Amino acid sequence: MNIILLGPPGAGKGTQARRLVEERDMVQLSTGDMLRAARSSGTEMGKRVAAIMDAGELVTDEIVIGLIEERLTTDNAPGGFIFDGFPRTLAQADALGALLTRLGQELGTVIEMAVDDEALVARITARATCGDCGEVYNDITKPIPEDGKCLKCGGSDFRRRADDNEESLKKRLLEYYKKTSPLIGYYYAKDLLQTVDGLDSVEGVAAAIAKALKAAE
Ligand SMILES: [Zn+2]
Repeated sequence: MNIILLGPPGAGKGTQARRLVEERDMVQLSTGDMLRAARSSGTEMGKRVAAIMDAGELVTDEIVIGLIEERLTTDNAPGGFIFDGFPRTLAQADALGALLTRLGQELGTVIEMAVDDEALVARITARATCGDCGEVYNDITKPIPEDGKCLKCGGSDFRRRADDNEESLKKRLLEYYKKTSPLIGYYYAKDLLQTVDGLDSVEGVAAAIAKALKAAE
């Protein structure tokens, strides 16, 4: 089943997407990862992407849709695809819908990870990741172990995103509300929207997502 994870920056979409990849054989398509992969692939599309990014310009919707099409038609995804961070606008949602229809594929459900703004700001500024394995930590819910070693890989190179400070987060939130939050109504009208409490524990959110996937089967 193909799904979209929708929610403001820091709602935990990436964490949940990684779980779905591990547990359900799904493939995660996040715009950032796709662009990086395209760049290093050396394909025609990859060269276009590299040229645009090197010039400091924004990659157009058309190119992102082109990359998604490449992945949808070549990747082996027994459990389906997870769109994470795309679509971000109504125009992108229309384009994605048209692409899926053209490929004879469907969108199974859209899961909104709803979070309270203030709690989100507190949560995202508390976040750190292991630079070696990508394990995510949080000062409040899952602190870095006292011995300073990653629980998963034993590494000690923890990183905090440079943009995880309050001001830049608020900017990204505003961007989300202006451009992306209309997608909630858009998919609701298409009878595809399900909402989970993004502020629940990682386990709790995962359980709610599992329930939503079952309901969409
Ligand atoms: Zn690690």
